[in-house]
Amino acid sequence: MNSQNSKYDVIVLGAGVAGLSAAIHAVRRGLKPLVIESTAYIGGRARSFTDRVSGDIIDNGQHVMMGCYASFFDLLTTLGSMGKIKKQDVLTIPFHFPDGSNDLLHAKGIGNMHGPLGMALGLLRLSFLIGKDKRNLLLFAIRVKLGLCKPGSMTAMELLLSESQSQSVIEKVWVPVILATMNGKPEEVSAKIFITVLNRAFFGPGDSSSLYIPQCGLSELFEPFQSWIEQQGGAIIQSNGVRHIEITDEVVRGVRLLDDTFIECPNVISAIPPHALLHILPESVKHHNHFSSLDRIRYSPIISLYLWFDKAFPGIDLAAIMESSTQWIFRKSTIMEHGESLLALTISAGDEIVNMSTEDIAQTCAKEVRKCFPEMFDARLIHWKVIKEKMATVLIDPETEEARPDQLTPVKGFYLAGDWTNTGLPATLEGAACSGGIAASLI
Ligand SMILES: Cc1cc2nc3c(=O)[nH]c(=O)nc-3n(C[C@H](O)[C@H](O)[C@H](O)COP(=O)(O)OP(=O)(O)OC[C@H]3O[C@@H](n4cnc5c(N)ncnc54)[C@H](O)[C@@H]3O)c2cc1C
Repeated sequence: MNSQNSKYDVIVLGAGVAGLSAAIHAVRRGLKPLVIESTAYIGGRARSFTDRVSGDIIDNGQHVMMGCYASFFDLLTTLGSMGKIKKQDVLTIPFHFPDGSNDLLHAKGIGNMHGPLGMALGLLRLSFLIGKDKRNLLLFAIRVKLGLCKPGSMTAMELLLSESQSQSVIEKVWVPVILATMNGKPEEVSAKIFITVLNRAFFGPGDSSSLYIPQCGLSELFEPFQSWIEQQGGAIIQSNGVRHIEITDEVVRGVRLLDDTFIECPNVISAIPPHALLHILPESVKHHNHFSSLDRIRYSPIISLYLWFDKAFPGIDLAAIMESSTQWIFRKSTIMEHGESLLALTISAGDEIVNMSTEDIAQTCAKEVRKCFPEMFDARLIHWKVIKEKMATVLIDPETEEARPDQLTPVKGFYLAGDWTNTGLPATLEGAACSGGIAASLI
């Protein structure tokens, strides 16, 4: 049995966004981190790979960021990757309907004043909403901004109904917003987090609501991490996960790796998902109140599709797909021979879809998007790839929100990070980055 006295001040478990953020913040505090990642790649659930048939680099799912992602952008800036994501000047989302009609949300304000004013004007310009719906929507926005909505333990749907939002506004505006930002359905997700999303992103200041789209595979964003951490005196071990966290007398002692090496360290930040943490926590600790919610956490799937057509669609950039199981479409670049257009499609909270065969999903979604974009009628689908992430994110329902554990645990030297921990944010890249920063600040 191999045992090492760690020359590192803190061990970070997991090289997802939360782990990278924790390591970066630890370095800023003058600490030397050792990051341990069980797989061969960096980025966790935000990663890319080469599609064998086309040779194109695709993500495990299209990721989109918003202007309010301060913690995540801080991480990208540290790694020198900020230039690899493209910002929309102001939030601009075309909506496409199966009858071929479309509408545009363009949150442009007056002069340089966008923010809530731009969003209000953008919503007023939407032609698919009637006057009364627009008025109630704006009243709701004002009440959110003034802090007058008291969501308690409501779901987002309960809140929307109590705020006089019509069925049409819920279906056309709030369902897409909630699915995209919280990966859950309005009748499931916590109204408290929904209000945070509205305040920080959609009705937030300046360009908080602008979308940012990566211009490369997701893994490329995080590639510089290894050399960066080594330059700071830290290190990363890959392809060798943690089998067990050693805790005695409520004090963390170190970690045991899959190859049985024991690494002693006075500080451990776990930045792995709750289901993985449950496997490596000592039995004696698992039953502590702080960790007792771990096995009750529910997850929500995201299904991603890549469709290669023999024709280019220069008119498609990104768009919301309405009244369909497909929710979003993005045009990507392709190197595939004879492939002109590569489209990425996303279905969040797709519980009804996730168990369909990949062939059925691809054909159903291709049919749906053809209806929305007449220019696709005569295009031939030459290749497709469906990626099902069954546990894409935790589902933050009101009960889970109440039970999300803090980063500070009752075990001395042991801290939690991850998009699922208590940040007050949805389970996103920003939530993950923020959690890592909090965990490192507690050491
Ligand atoms: C398909 C999809 C689309 C998404 N779209 C968006 C989006 O558009 N915008 C957005 O903001 N968010 C999006 N998300 C959510 C976002 O990807 C996650 O919130 C974020 O990546 C979570 O980061 P994390 O570090 O908390 O966890 P993870 O990324 O899960 O990182 C945990 C890491 O720990 C490692 N690990 C596990 N067990 C061990 C062990 N025992 N020892 C060592 N290492 C271990 C794992 O291999 C992994 O690398 C999406 C997620 C998916 C799946």
